[in-house]
Amino acid sequence: MLILCTNDDGYRAVGLRTLAGVARGLGDVRVVAPDREQSATSHSLTMHYPLRAHAIDESVQAVDGTPTDCVALAVGELLGARPDFVLSGINHGPNMGEDVLYSGTVAGAMEATILGIPAIAFSFVGRDPAGIEAYAPLLERLIPQLLRPGGLPDDTLLNVNLPALDPADVRGVRITRLGRRVYSDSISRALDPSGREYFWIGGGAVSWAADEGTDFHAVEEGYISVTPLHLDLTNHKLLAEVEQWELRP
Ligand code: MN
Repeated sequence: MLILCTNDDGYRAVGLRTLAGVARGLGDVRVVAPDREQSATSHSLTMHYPLRAHAIDESVQAVDGTPTDCVALAVGELLGARPDFVLSGINHGPNMGEDVLYSGTVAGAMEATILGIPAIAFSFVGRDPAGIEAYAPLLERLIPQLLRPGGLPDDTLLNVNLPALDPADVRGVRITRLGRRVYSDSISRALDPSGREYFWIGGGAVSWAADEGTDFHAVEEGYISVTPLHLDLTNHKLLAEVEQWELRP
């Protein structure tokens, strides 16, 4: 079994090292990952300048592009064989609710899904990535249960969030839907040392609508959250209603 691992935090990240280490117990693992921080690059594809891949060792390559670039290059050119599974992460930080729309880690798994390869994105909800390595034994048990040949329908991937706990304290696994994140004051406006105004997106207080059944709620309660995601963003329930608008050219 050939497994491709990628992420958006860069090939040196402890989350990716942990994930690849677990995957090595399951098959032949190749890592193709960004050569630097690419978090929040979403599903961005680099089309206007060349990409280069650098061999770090015989199983790891670093690409000067996004996670989507990494998966596209790996599957199209670098691996020489089609991977059976793509694992993305373990992201340093949560990817719950609307995060999945910004996340490069989730996009790496989505790109694999678009290419018809079953894929799973993993994220660690804690602030300190040092807590990730301790998850290795738990993931050695969990990942084989998730990698079910033919177990995912077309256009579907799994989004897994690990709570910021000692894995021994994890209460179980919950299958969830995406929740809603609430950001406040997340844009800073200030002056740089030369007096020019700048803006900085990020930070701020984070809270969420932790409704029962959501990824946020599960993680808050000490469970691992597993959300099946679908690539089809169509609001199927609204099709008939918008049809009634009788739009004309
Ligand atoms: Mn990241």
